[in-house]
Amino acid sequence: MLNFRTNTFKNGIHPPEHKRETNGLPIRQFPFAPVIILPMVQHIGAPSKIMVVEGQEVVRGQLIAQADGYVSVPMHAPVSGTIRKIVNVPTISGKMAPGIFLEAFPSSTQEVQEGTPVNLESATTEEILQGIQNAGIVGLGGAAFPTHVKLKIPEGKHCEVLIINGIECEPYLTTDHRVMLEQAQDIFTGIRYLLKATGATRVIIGIEANKQDAVDHLEANIPNDLQVSIKVVPVKYPQGSEKMLITSLLDREVPSGGLPIEVHAVVVNVATTAEIGRLLPHGRGIQERVITITGPGIKKKGNYLIPIGTPLRYVLEQVGVDGEISEVYMGGPMMGTAVSNLDISIVKGTSGILAFTEKDVIRPEKIYPCIKCGACVDACPLFLNPSRLGILAKFEAYDQMTEHHLMDCFECGSCSYVCPAHIPLVQYFRLSKSIVRKRQAAAKQTLEYVQ
Ligand code: SF4
Ligand code: SF4
Repeated sequence: MLNFRTNTFKNGIHPPEHKRETNGLPIRQFPFAPVIILPMVQHIGAPSKIMVVEGQEVVRGQLIAQADGYVSVPMHAPVSGTIRKIVNVPTISGKMAPGIFLEAFPSSTQEVQEGTPVNLESATTEEILQGIQNAGIVGLGGAAFPTHVKLKIPEGKHCEVLIINGIECEPYLTTDHRVMLEQAQDIFTGIRYLLKATGATRVIIGIEANKQDAVDHLEANIPNDLQVSIKVVPVKYPQGSEKMLITSLLDREVPSGGLPIEVHAVVVNVATTAEIGRLLPHGRGIQERVITITGPGIKKKGNYLIPIGTPLRYVLEQVGVDGEISEVYMGGPMMGTAVSNLDISIVKGTSGILAFTEKDVIRPEKIYPCIKCGACVDACPLFLNPSRLGILAKFEAYDQMTEHHLMDCFECGSCSYVCPAHIPLVQYFRLSKSIVRKRQAAAKQTLEYVQ
């Protein structure tokens, strides 16, 4: 059932989309790098625990690190090869983390090892959640939150609507768009698992109006025995965030500090859904993902299926970059991270790689004082006051920032984008949030110690 909605969340922005460069390019398999580097920090929660030793030979798909607790996932070998080194490796955050150097067998066929399938008909809710954790699945939209944790419905709550998030509102990125065009059956199989896991009674796939071909393709392929509603919403950033999408699709507002389940909804990214549908019937673990590689500095732009752990330097060598390249982003330009070190590798949450040359990067010469124009207030989808928060951040007034709902800010960057004074508001908020979190953790530790 297809439905076009004019409803959308309030505020937000319309940055240039830059999706035409890659949205017509089919997903292509990326070559296997000679050496894969796998940091154990790839998701929110506890890092995976290494189970292999140096010199050990492993098969593609084999479990090489286990989940360390409930909010954690295991890791599977992305290639068949030999464990060369277990050492600390650089990560995108700039910190080092335990990691594995895996040297690929040069002439291997790279067959994937299968595990125990999760039978859709007979599996219980718990078995499906366990299957999702065993497959190492995390949110592929960029959040990298362990999916089985997100799907666990807390005691006393219930899920009425399962929302499949096909919005992909970040400029440049077209991975979800291509997944919807090329992996429809996996998406519908994933939806079947997700319905059982959440107990939801209806499913909505939310897609923005700039992906009409994906809307038509999914609509034409909905299985006869599956009730799925596809809702098309106007294009606006940051509609892909869970709270905004719920407002756009359901006219419901997730309360401050709350989760979608407070309004009886669970939101799952469309590529994550496809991965569940692809992996669970075979008991496989995730060892590759679709990534958009684009930007003016990239020669062979496209959507590629890339083994997790492929070094960024190798990726850029394969696609070719302009000699003048000055900035590389992992993720989109709004919520992604500027890379300071090309020796990091692709992780499960990497949805895009963008490269810009010096002439494409606009660097404000100066940051001016706030002129109280209110543009940031009009842009903020959460009705925060970024101008006030920015001033408080400069004075390191973290308690007052918390009173002004700093922790609700999900760092979408809309306020910075519109600010004529070039105030790096989102950077202030990111830093302030991490300071508040550290203080809260220290206060909790002190309290536990005193008690
Ligand atoms: S970064 Fe935070 S404060 Fe700025 S617009 Fe987004 S949610 Fe609002
Ligand atoms: S957009 Fe910038 S200049 Fe305008 S009110 Fe916000 S912080 Fe101040």
